[in-house]
Amino acid sequence: STFQDLGLNDDLLQAITDMGFKTPSDVQAQAIPILLQEERDLVALAQTGTGKTAAFGFPMLQKIDIESRTTQGLILSPTRELCLQIANELNLYGKYCKGLNVVAIYGGASITDQAKSVKKGAQIIVATPGRMKDMISRNMVDISKIEYSVLDEADEMLNMGFYEDITDILSHTPKDKSTWLFSATMPKEVATIAKKFMHSPIEITV
Ligand code: AMP
Repeated sequence: STFQDLGLNDDLLQAITDMGFKTPSDVQAQAIPILLQEERDLVALAQTGTGKTAAFGFPMLQKIDIESRTTQGLILSPTRELCLQIANELNLYGKYCKGLNVVAIYGGASITDQAKSVKKGAQIIVATPGRMKDMISRNMVDISKIEYSVLDEADEMLNMGFYEDITDILSHTPKDKSTWLFSATMPKEVATIAKKFMHSPIEITV
């Protein structure tokens, strides 16, 4: 298939051309049409390097309202490096989405600076669970209007002991949001999270 076939809009297709992506990767070809067309939860078994960032990033960028400054997308990721990498990718993918504001939130950097960035109006937040929970408890961020949440590298996040933080964070998001979980492996803990927070997810494996 081509990126056009997947149903992506012109702003995204132009960015895809600029980046030199020729054809959708396997996880992209499987996930993107579903996420664009249906408000469904998704569990994807996919390793790093398979193009999974775009598999959730393109649909999220297409579905959020860029004209609004409300935070509509939340991506949880295990490390600062991954958060920055995802935010960077989303900015490349969304380079023609005028007014897009993606903010990365992670520990080991000034929380007040991050709160200021959020306050300017971020449609998408990419966060590590610990810092995210901290900012929620300090009322520095409002995730009550989240429509799309991503648990990226879910197995890694749980290995790192983020179960409680993730549970706490998700409890502050609307019940009727969509949740997209990406994991390289499917240990019991990941299945538990999926069962607890997701509604009859579509499952894909690459
Ligand atoms: P990820 O698995 O999301 O970390 O992506 C791995 C790398 O592949 C990133 O540098 C992406 O920019 C790149 N990439 C993602 N999708 C495609 C594609 N369809 N064609 C070529 N490169 C891609």
